[in-house]
Amino acid sequence: MAPRVDTQAQAQAQAQARERARLAALQRTGLLDSPPEHLFDLITTLAAKALDVPVVLMSLVDADRQFFKSQCGLPAPWAERRETPLSHSFCQYVSMLGEALVVEDARQHPLVRENLAVSEIDVIAYAGMPLTTEDGFTLGSLCAIDTQPRHWTAAELEILEGFAAQIMAEISFRTRVELLDADLGALRASETERRTEMRQIVHDLRTPLNAIYLGLSGLPAMGELNQSQHDCLELARKNATVLGNLVQQMIKVGADDDKGDNPRAPSLPHEMVSRALDQVAALAESAGIRLQYDNPSPLPPISAHAGDLTRVLVNLIANGVKFTPRGGSVSISTSKGSEHGKDVIRFSVTDTGIGIAKKDQGRIFREGVRLDEKADPRRSTGIGLAFCKRVVEEHGGMLHLESAVGKGSTFSFAVPVDRSAPPATPFA
Ligand code: ADP
Repeated sequence: MAPRVDTQAQAQAQAQARERARLAALQRTGLLDSPPEHLFDLITTLAAKALDVPVVLMSLVDADRQFFKSQCGLPAPWAERRETPLSHSFCQYVSMLGEALVVEDARQHPLVRENLAVSEIDVIAYAGMPLTTEDGFTLGSLCAIDTQPRHWTAAELEILEGFAAQIMAEISFRTRVELLDADLGALRASETERRTEMRQIVHDLRTPLNAIYLGLSGLPAMGELNQSQHDCLELARKNATVLGNLVQQMIKVGADDDKGDNPRAPSLPHEMVSRALDQVAALAESAGIRLQYDNPSPLPPISAHAGDLTRVLVNLIANGVKFTPRGGSVSISTSKGSEHGKDVIRFSVTDTGIGIAKKDQGRIFREGVRLDEKADPRRSTGIGLAFCKRVVEEHGGMLHLESAVGKGSTFSFAVPVDRSAPPATPFA
């Protein structure tokens, strides 16, 4: 005998666990106690018409009640309450068995004849179709009710089953959308976390970099350097500066918050170009690329974040160097012009390099885009142009590109002349 009791207890425990899982699935739909919705009301109304019955219910069976997400024709006070206790529920059997329940005369039916729905709500004939999820949980029933005995035809039951399938298609669609939303939310959160960590790391890089720079600057004081030691030191110092600028630039990309720390000021175009050229000179030399800047006439100052615009130039020139075969050149030009009635200074950087295909010309300005995915990641990060575009736009300009594959590229932009500044004098 003992093993049988065990088996019964096990079966009971399993049934309870399954019911808990079913109730959890029902909660997850978010439909319990939610307001009526046109879509479900349309289904119950159409089903009542198609079957010619006074009442149709979309009933969700909770732990101690049935909740009507939609109802058509239910008498007062049940219609307002939108629920009954399980003492008044036939739908609980549909949910328990996971299959249709068809009753022609409830007063004669052994399962439901004592149910209070018979005496208090006048439920005499009943046909309930299970509302079952893809993972097998029956949430409740779509049921048709008559107040007199009735034979349900196969065609009527088929119609009711079809409407129940429509309801479940809608519920499962909503569940999928919610899951996708949750996935998207989690992805966004982890992306934000990753960006924050990256920014912190990049930010922290500045301290050791400064130490390297200071260390290199202190070397000459320790004793006479010969020419090649001196050249080596200069190269190291220049590249430590380049590295420092890159770090600054990475902090800037994606960090909108620190705008304004650094107000715009009158800045001299030639000075910015010269500083940019200093930073890329070593790179160009080792890549065998000639840098050209004809510095014809004095230009008036522009209203700019000089550090940012210099980094834009560094990026554009460095790209020109990277994407131009040895022996080629990168030329920079600055000129005064007028755009939309305003005086502007136009900057352009032209290379004789590999060029960029028309189809890629729009997307290269997006962060993380590199055309040659196999490119050495140390040389190419795909953040430079996103940064340049942002800074140029912050200055009220647009970054333009003209390019032909195999011939080269020109990146150009214009920045308004600073009107508050005194008239320009000749610049070095
Ligand atoms: P990175 O240079 O770090 O890859 P950028 O955002 O500056 O990132 O450039 C994105 C991509 O655009 C580059 O990987 C390259 O494929 C292309 N590109 C940029 N500048 C040039 C250029 N002057 N000539 C050819 N291709 C370029």
